[in-house]
Formats: sequence, structure tokens, C-alpha cells
Amino acid sequence: MSNKSAIKEKFVVPGSKIGVIEEFMAGHGTYEIDGIIYSQFIGDARTDSKYRTVSIRPKISPIYPLEGQEIIGVVEVVQEKLAVINIIKIGNNVLSKPLTGFLHISASSPRYAKNMREICKPMDRIRAKIISTSGGIIRLMTSDHNLGVLKTFCSNCGYRISLERPVLKCERCKNIEKRKLARD
Ligand SMILES: [Zn+2]
Repeated sequence: MSNKSAIKEKFVVPGSKIGVIEEFMAGHGTYEIDGIIYSQFIGDARTDSKYRTVSIRPKISPIYPLEGQEIIGVVEVVQEKLAVINIIKIGNNVLSKPLTGFLHISASSPRYAKNMREICKPMDRIRAKIISTSGGIIRLMTSDHNLGVLKTFCSNCGYRISLERPVLKCERCKNIEKRKLARD
């Protein structure tokens, strides 16, 4: 004989009513107003009638950029001292909508670089770290060894570039490029 499970799951959205405090203890991802328990997230409301608890397992958790997190991004614009990066992944979370981050030349390389174009170019895929989010502005750095360009294209002909240490060379037009590469 199988035990009838005390656990039930139901899909909910933020603001969905999921119970009352006489029935359940409001757990993770819920909030309570006037004795009624609501969901904070889109996800599965998990009610356990044995332990009388309810909690939400979020389906899409909001992703906030935090200092120290690693990101993956695509270089959008490169100016002399600044690059604008479209952040597509924070930690292991792929963003449904890219965020904008800024990489200043002083935080781009352990060595002195005169021009941001020695560090990265538009369309390059880079790994960077968030150093600040103050004022809602995401500032990035790539000067650590494991950070920098992961994938790049020839600025002359657009072809994929391969690393022939110590230089980056276009497989097609033999153009030599310069980047701040991630070590791996
Ligand atoms: Zn080329």
C-alpha cells in the first residue's frame, strides 16, 4: 500500500493566495497579510498538510547583480577608455534580458593598457567580475588571470580567431590581434 502524500504542489504567480495562517505556516517565498498567505514568486507552491507548511519553489528567481560575482558578456561598444558590455549571464544564471555593464580601462588588465581596443573589441565574448553596483551602475573588471576575452573575431575580416601563442592570429587573413584574454 502506498502512502498518500501529504505534499501538494500548485503553480502560482506573485500575489497568488496560497492559504491562511490557521492552516499553514508561511515559509520561504511567501508573505502574509491579515492572516492570508500569498506567493512572492512565480513558481510551485508546495503545501505539506502533515507539517502544515507552505513554501514557494521559484521557477524564475529574480537575478540581482552582486559585487564579486562573475559574469559572461558580449562587448557592445569600445571607446578609448571604456567598454560597454551586454551581460548575458551572472554566475550560473542566464539572464532573460541582458544587463549593461561598464569596463573601465584601469580595471581591464594587470598591465598598463593605453587604449581599450588592446583589451577587447565589439562582439568579443568576455568573462568579468562585478566590482561595484553602486548607483545601479554595474562596474566590471577583467584584470584577474581567469578573466578577459573568451572568444573573439578578426577585426579585419570577421573570421574566428585562434590563439597561436603568444599572439592571436586570424585563421583566414592572418591579421594579428591584441586582447586581454582569460587564461583558459
Ligand atoms: Zn581576418
